[in-house]
Amino acid sequence: MSEIVKCEVCGKAFNKRYVNSHKRLAHGKKSDPASSTLSEPEVMQEILSLYARLSDEKRKELQIRLKSLDPAKRQSEHSSASVEQCKRLHQLEL
Ligand SMILES: [Zn+2]
Repeated sequence: MSEIVKCEVCGKAFNKRYVNSHKRLAHGKKSDPASSTLSEPEVMQEILSLYARLSDEKRKELQIRLKSLDPAKRQSEHSSASVEQCKRLHQLEL
């Protein structure tokens, strides 16, 4: 008799006996503390401290690349001018 349970990470159904090894294999990020155990504010902090090590030239390049990562944001640029302004201010701070 096998019980079917859902993986809470990806939502797929698995045999209960298999779901744990599935999670380890498919979502097993626990061995990679750099990317998984950090909370979002910690990730931000991490990025900011890395950013501080970049040259001005590389910072500009990074900003362009970050923007291109998020095309949806670019589309809503007109409707969220204040957000853009805010982001620009933060860039100046950096
Ligand atoms: Zn899963």
